[in-house]
Amino acid sequence: MSFPEGLIAQLRISKNLAVLTGAGVSKESGLRTFRDAQTGLWAQYKPHELASPEAFQRDPKLVWDWYAWRREAVKGVRPNPGHYALVGMEKHVPDFTLITQNVDGLHRMAGSQNVLELHGNIQRVRCADCYTFTEVWDDDTESVPHCKVCGGLLRPDVVWFGESLPRDQLEAAVQAARSCDVFFSIGTSGVVQPAASLGFAAHNRGAVVVEINAEPTPLTPKANYSFHGKSGEILPALVKEVWG
Ligand SMILES: [Zn+2]
Repeated sequence: MSFPEGLIAQLRISKNLAVLTGAGVSKESGLRTFRDAQTGLWAQYKPHELASPEAFQRDPKLVWDWYAWRREAVKGVRPNPGHYALVGMEKHVPDFTLITQNVDGLHRMAGSQNVLELHGNIQRVRCADCYTFTEVWDDDTESVPHCKVCGGLLRPDVVWFGESLPRDQLEAAVQAARSCDVFFSIGTSGVVQPAASLGFAAHNRGAVVVEINAEPTPLTPKANYSFHGKSGEILPALVKEVWG
């Protein structure tokens, strides 16, 4: 695999790099997107009927059980070479921000340090009322566990349909996109807002935009470099070429 000289030179002098990742990166680890992962018992439900505050209000146990099932599905999944290449990249660039739309926690599992999880993390649980996070809960099968602080219901710490993104994470992501000299958009279709606007923000501020995705996206016309293929193959080759 060969890369343009201009890109290699640019990456070697990069002082501030921001990366946005989406479902395509997890998919290469064998994790099915929840849109195509509905099997068995859950096939009768549409994800947006389960991943919403209204659904949780209507039937908290149903939603809790669905997430328990999805957490199990994530347990068997491991980071792929694309995740590890980003860990390597972070070591070579002074200011590095990894922004992800994925809730599976695979970037942290791989060893990435500065990670912004725009849509939350399916492994974390918090109180629906007072926002207290917890790592331990009584997983009895009869009802949804309660918050030890206020007695409210516990829920997964993920952003549901109709909910806004965690403000601190989003602000940090926008800041990273505006201040970086190189911006990578990887494995994301570029249609889910507000994450989709980050690449355009970086481009408008003069950053070099690099896209790696299976197919062209709305960002492709603005990208300085565009690669259509697997991030698990392209990223390790690129990191080796630049910093090998
Ligand atoms: Zn609480």
